Formats: sequence, structure tokens, C-alpha cells
Amino acid sequence: MLIDSIAPFLCDGCGCCERDCPSDVIRMRGRKAFIVYPKDCNNCLNCELACSRGAIKWNVFEVEPKFWSKEAGLPLHPLEL
Ligand code: SF4
Ligand code: SF4
Repeated sequence: MLIDSIAPFLCDGCGCCERDCPSDVIRMRGRKAFIVYPKDCNNCLNCELACSRGAIKWNVFEVEPKFWSKEAGLPLHPLEL
């Protein structure tokens, strides 16, 4: 799974990631988002794109080397692929 975790201290509870996840992986509990069905994730990254708070963190060890930015030493943003 490309998504590693959701940082609760960054999440503002907007619910956009839950709404945009086509595989129903994320659930809101109170005002925080949680990954509840990780095995159902299809790695579409919709949740990461939907989150304006940068709360959804990549699992960098799952990102293929061809998707890494040589300059920044970080995975490319989905919009750069
Ligand atoms: S889109 Fe980001 S801020 Fe909104 S609920 Fe999901 S993780 Fe939290
Ligand atoms: S990467 Fe796609 S399928 Fe996986 S949790 Fe995010 S929106 Fe859902």
C-alpha cells in the first residue's frame, strides 16, 4: 500500500479523503480520518490528492525508484507522474 498513515495532528476532519477513496479504505471517526481496510487499497492516491492538509503520508519504501525525484530525493507527487 502506497499510503502509510494519516497524521492525526494535521487532519482537520474535512472528510475529503473518505469521500474520494473509491475502495472505501478510509473512515472518519470523530473528526479524524483512519485507514481501516488497508488490504482494499488500490494505490490510486486519490486520498493524498484530496487532502489539502498534507496529512496523508506515503510509504516511501513502496514507491518504485522510477517515481523518485533525483533532485529532491523524495517520491514525486502524483500530479508529477
Ligand atoms: S482529507 Fe486530510 S484533512 Fe481531510 S479528513 Fe482526510 S486526512 Fe483529514
Ligand atoms: S490510495 Fe486510493 S484506494 Fe488507497 S486509501 Fe487512498 S484513495 Fe483509497
